[in-house]
Amino acid sequence: MQELEALAEQIRHCTRCRLARNRTHAVPGSGSPTARLMFVGEAPGFHEDQQGLPFVGAAGNLLETLLNEINMTRAQVFITNVVKCRPPDNRDPQPDEIEACRWFLDQQIALIKPSMIVTLGRFSLQLAYSGVSISRGHGQAKRLGDILYYPMFHPAAALHQPGYRSLLEQDMHRIPELLSSMQQIDAAPQPPSRPEQLTLF
Ligand code: URA
Repeated sequence: MQELEALAEQIRHCTRCRLARNRTHAVPGSGSPTARLMFVGEAPGFHEDQQGLPFVGAAGNLLETLLNEINMTRAQVFITNVVKCRPPDNRDPQPDEIEACRWFLDQQIALIKPSMIVTLGRFSLQLAYSGVSISRGHGQAKRLGDILYYPMFHPAAALHQPGYRSLLEQDMHRIPELLSSMQQIDAAPQPPSRPEQLTLF
């Protein structure tokens, strides 16, 4: 889709925040421009910065393994991050950096129009919940407008603490059922205007 690629090009040249100074490549995101399922992580790390692609390091390998467990591939989904440039030494993205990058994420969501957004880790969790920890929020699907938000732990958490792996798997394995529930809603006749809806699954 041309508009999504034009947006990616804008991201590659962005200088809206300090993260532009030290990047090798900005990382707009990758995958299907018409994906029903979108993943939003935290920020590019070393390998992502080198290659300009999201989740290509160890955490990305685990994400891909988990996707394959639900019979999906990277090409079928869209993967991006809340900030598109690597923070120095992989430090946490700062609130003003997240804010500066927010417009890009909002545009990606508006163009791709996913049915479901899986947030990975505590930074993208904020898209759906504020003031909720990832330990409490993971696995709690929440519908906002036409999109089902579904928080999961970040795959890197499972690499550092193996105990998280089974929680990540359990949450991942519920995605097909949640996605198909949203597809049934998408396929149903729509009322003329849809009020903002908020449903906890
Ligand atoms: N961690 C993230 O949050 N995003 C990436 O792209 C890679 C690692």
